[in-house]
Parts: sequence; C-alpha cells; structure tokens
Amino acid sequence: MKVFKFGGASIGSAEAIKNVASILSQEDEANCLVVISAMGKMTNTFENIVNFYVNNDQEKLIESIDFIINYHTKIINDLFQDEHKIHQKVTILFDEMTHFLSRNIAKEYDYLYDQIVCYGELLSTTIVSEYLNDVGISNSWRDARELVITDAVFRDASVNWVETEKHIKTKIDTSITTIVQGFIAGDLNGNTTTLGREGSDFTAGIFAYCLDAESLTIWKDVPGVLNADPREFEDPQLLEQISYEETIEMAFYGASVIHPKTIKPIQNKKIPLIVRSFKDLNSKGTKVTNKAEMIPHIPCYIVKKNQVLVSIASLDFSFIVEENISEIFKLFHKYQLKVNLIQNSAISFSVCLDNNLNHFDQLFNEMKVLYNVSFVKNVDLFTVRHFTENSLSKIYNLGTSLLSQINKNTAQVIIQKN
Ligand code: ASP
Ligand code: MG
Repeated sequence: MKVFKFGGASIGSAEAIKNVASILSQEDEANCLVVISAMGKMTNTFENIVNFYVNNDQEKLIESIDFIINYHTKIINDLFQDEHKIHQKVTILFDEMTHFLSRNIAKEYDYLYDQIVCYGELLSTTIVSEYLNDVGISNSWRDARELVITDAVFRDASVNWVETEKHIKTKIDTSITTIVQGFIAGDLNGNTTTLGREGSDFTAGIFAYCLDAESLTIWKDVPGVLNADPREFEDPQLLEQISYEETIEMAFYGASVIHPKTIKPIQNKKIPLIVRSFKDLNSKGTKVTNKAEMIPHIPCYIVKKNQVLVSIASLDFSFIVEENISEIFKLFHKYQLKVNLIQNSAISFSVCLDNNLNHFDQLFNEMKVLYNVSFVKNVDLFTVRHFTENSLSKIYNLGTSLLSQINKNTAQVIIQKN
C-alpha cells in the first residue's frame, strides 16, 4: 500500500481537486491511503472563528463562519450537481460546528480550538472523497479521530502509538482506497485533538508506519526538497536524493519543507519518502531514504528571521560559570524563548534567540538586574549545510556579520541587514 498526502494548496479550488483526481488515476490509485489537509488557508479562518468566539465578537464570528460556508459552497457548486448528496453532508458538518458553539460551556482555549479547527479537514475530506467516487475512484472515507489516538494535550497532542497502531491495523482495509484527514486525531475520551499546525505530513507518516507502506508521497506546490527556500533565495535547486538524517537536520535548522515529526516513524521502517510537485508530474521530485549520499551534493541554505542576538556578562566581569548558565537558561525557559545558537567565552555568553512570541523585552527587564546584558534585535540566522567558501561569502555579502560558528558540515552566521 502507498500513502499519499495532499496539503491545502493542492485542494484549494475545484480545479485543484480535479488535478488530484487525475494524479490518483495516473498513479494506479487502487489500494492507497490518501491523507488530506484543510482546503487552501482554511485553518487560519477556523483559528479566527475560535478567537472571535472566545472574545465574544458576534459580528466577526458570524462573518468568518459565512466566509467558510461560502468558500466550500463555491467549490462544491463547481464540482457537483445541485441534487448531489454532498450538499446535505456538508450542511450536517456546518450545523454540527455551530451547534457545538451554541451549546458549549467549556472555557479552555486549546480544547475549544481543536473541537472547531477540525472541521477544516472534515469538510475537505468529505468533499474530495465524494468527488473521487463520482469520477470513478471509489474510496472509503474514514474519521482520523477514531484511528490516530493521542493524549489529551490539545493543540499539541502526542501519539499513543500502541492504540493508534491497533486501530489503524484493524480498521483500515488495505485492498481499497481510503481517504482520511491529516492533522486531527482523538483522545481516549472521544475528544478531538490536533497534532500542531502543518501536522498533516506527520499524520501521513503515522499511517505509513502503521500500515508498513511501500512508500509515502507528499505532494507539494514546489518541485520537491530544494536547497533553499524560494521565498528567500534566488535560483533554488532541487535535491534529487537525500537521507532521512539530512531532512531532520534541515528541519531542525528551520527549513520548512516537511513537518519534522514525519521522518522518525518512516525512518524506523525504512519507508521511502517522495516529495513531488502536484503541478508538474514530469518532475520526479526528491527521494528521501536511508542512503547517505546527497544528490546533487550542494550547499543548502536555511534562514531564521526575527532573531535577537544577546550577550550576557556578569556585572563584575567575573567569569560566566555553570551556575550562571543554568540561571540564564531558566529565564529563557520562563519566557518561552527558543535558543538557536550559543557561543561562550570567558566573560560573556552569547545566544541567538527566536523572538516570535515577542517575550524578549520581559526577559531583558528581569535579566538586566542580574547581568550586564546587551542585544541586537531583528537579525537573521543563516545556516549553510555542506558549506563551501563561495556559499559562505554569499551569506556574508547580505549584511554585517555579527557572529559565526563553523562545524564540520554546518556553518551558522548571524547577519544584520544593512
Ligand atoms: N490544516 C492544518 C494546517 O493548516 C494542517 C496541515 O495543513 O498540515 O496547519
Ligand atoms: Mg498545510
């Protein structure tokens, strides 16, 4: 059995859904399992619904519910006849969601989030499954909340592998095509949970693992895994073959190709991962396997933006020792600041921090009482895997280099743009 994953961009319009059908029919779709995300950027709109609901902003709440209904209705009208049973099926889902909101008394944000946001995937899979059945790709729609079993940590649930494997192995008929939601799951009490934003890749990895799939294909709007993010760098090149480890390393340094949790399960069973473009079927994409060789062997560029470079020295210029370091890290943890790079010298300690939650100023106020703290905000952390002299000078040319750290395979440079 093969596992396929289609993300939001690949099913964001009627045209796109027709393209998915044509891919599946060319790919010999019999007995594959297809994991699907919410359509387009729908998850963002569902997040808005949760926020307006929690803030009791009735007007905006109704506006965003209407937006979601209209978005899906347009796609349905483009794909189906007026009397088709899909109309009733999606109406039931919309009603379920609005009834939940009107009856709910729970206050916990993360719980509410999962109970609402899941409708993005429930709607998309219902629509795609019906459409595929209509065009002759007969399939069975399954509810991932009864298959992927997690703990009750809403919005960031951890998989209960024993339960999940048991459910998937006994409930999935591998002789037919199955359509299932990415990202959403269920806890043992029957509540909906989610695996974290962009978690559908991980769902696909979970199914591939539990079904001992022959391969996992993630269909994307880029040709495959590139050596640089096309939004940040010119002329990115396609990597034809890379190893599981390389993919994990790249994700660790901030590459956003594949959800990082996806790799471990498929690596354990040596299931090949193929990352391909749904826009260009002639391109073979990237094959991720346990073969160590990277083809072509070229530098890979990754950037993390909105970083703060902080230098910390003791107030009396004595050495920074273990005790200080542990105190400093406790403060980073307290303010949820993620450390991306560390450099230590006798009297100062420098770190590069992610400031995406904007907690840095609070940290600074607490830390400046204890230490001599200086910082530069809004710098970029560049990582070059398999760097060459030429690739590094490209990075140095982007601005003023404030700090660099070079290991065997990886160079990291903090740049302040001029
Ligand atoms: N729909 C979810 C999201 O947008 C999951 C995914 O796309 O992987 O985060
Ligand atoms: Mg997505």
